[in-house]
Amino acid sequence: MQWNEFSDWGAKISQWAADYHTNLRDRPVRAQTAPGDVAALIAPSAPEGPHPMTEIMEDFERVVMPGITHWQHPRFFAYFPANAAPPSMLAEMLVSTIAAQCMLWQTSPAATEMETVMLDWLRQAIGLPAQFSGVIQDSASSATLAAVLTMRERALNWQGNQAGLSGAVRLRIYCSAEVHTSVDRAIWVSGVGQDNLVRIPIAGKLRGMDPVALKAAIQADIAAGYRPAGIIACTGGTGTGACDDLTEVVRIAKEFDLYSHIDAAWAGAGMICPEFRKLWQGVEGADSIVFNPHKWLGAQFDCSAHFLANPSSLVKTLAIQPEYLKTHGHDGLINYSEWSVPLGRRFRALKLWFLLRSYGLEALRVRLRNHVAWAEDLAAKLVENPRFEIVTAPILSLFTFRIAGLDDAAQIAFVNRVNDDGQIYITQTKVDGKIAIRFQIGQFDVTEEDILFAYDVMCELAG
Ligand SMILES: *Cc1c(COP(=O)(O)O)cnc(C)c1O
Repeated sequence: MQWNEFSDWGAKISQWAADYHTNLRDRPVRAQTAPGDVAALIAPSAPEGPHPMTEIMEDFERVVMPGITHWQHPRFFAYFPANAAPPSMLAEMLVSTIAAQCMLWQTSPAATEMETVMLDWLRQAIGLPAQFSGVIQDSASSATLAAVLTMRERALNWQGNQAGLSGAVRLRIYCSAEVHTSVDRAIWVSGVGQDNLVRIPIAGKLRGMDPVALKAAIQADIAAGYRPAGIIACTGGTGTGACDDLTEVVRIAKEFDLYSHIDAAWAGAGMICPEFRKLWQGVEGADSIVFNPHKWLGAQFDCSAHFLANPSSLVKTLAIQPEYLKTHGHDGLINYSEWSVPLGRRFRALKLWFLLRSYGLEALRVRLRNHVAWAEDLAAKLVENPRFEIVTAPILSLFTFRIAGLDDAAQIAFVNRVNDDGQIYITQTKVDGKIAIRFQIGQFDVTEEDILFAYDVMCELAG
């Protein structure tokens, strides 16, 4: 492709993007295709000769678009949002144009320095004290893995990477049953092993770990000859938005010299509003915190902000410096690839700069506050309607409900009916062993009318 052709297509595609977003309400939210439908439309092997761009774009509309679930649809109430605000999308266009690989300071100083400053903007925006420094990870899963590896190395006196785990003392890590499955995977991958992930029972309205049970479990493990290594707490768990009591968790972590990691992947964005910070009171005592600007805040995937009270234990765990990665004569520079498992890194900080400048924090706060208020309003409407029952009250903008009096199979059938209908999109979870339907409000363009519309759709399809 020649550059003049590229600029024609670039203009066409950005027009396509604006049209797509403007007309999203006309499309079904969840893809309505059957398994195999899309693959059947794709040629089984690569062509030997070139295809014209016109044909490729036509095929994109014909083959790809029907098989897309529209995460930017204003009536997307499933999972958690994956917002991509327009300025963030534009920044990503520039990033993919420059296509720099930003593993070291010298492989693009602007990317490293922008990342340092943007993480400090975010730190201030969510009210963390100045001692925290940050890095952008590709996902919260990676940040949690990095934290678990740090817990492991710290508890093994920094010998685990070298000596391996066979024959080592048995490590123990603690969390509640409300944490995301990325915690389980980090435990597997780190070699700590699922049997050493200790699930602490939950108590109270916010479904947090019971601190008394947490302390008792740690003491029992020490008595049994195990070595407690860390605690993983959540602010805004995936199923119901569960929040651990971080003041207590951090106090216990310090009492037993354990490393603490807080997974606030979704809820962390809410902390730009000071009134929501009570949900993670005590967070300033944690060692490591992750939140995803790529969920609720509007920075296009991927962008996970990982904050560290003291990055040196993370760097000690992950830094590796073969000769070809040394940046001679520039000691003291940050090479962010030493803060994460992958070596290669995209320039992910630019979209934060575009996003935060283009809106300003106050406009983002207004959006999030609206989502929380509308979730409370919708939950209140469902309480009043005898066909529904609330299972867990809203935590920020997430709550769960059921169709009153029906069994699990009927709840799932309802979710499928709603999603096959396509006008809105919701998903389910399990609460205390029973199916509950999740409803979260967080899509960037959602309006109060969309919420009223969703209520009508659910009433109609509840039967
Ligand atoms: C979404 C989510 C994750 C996983 O986030 P990724 O960035 O996709 O890895 C982890 N924890 C919680 C609480 C989440 O909501």
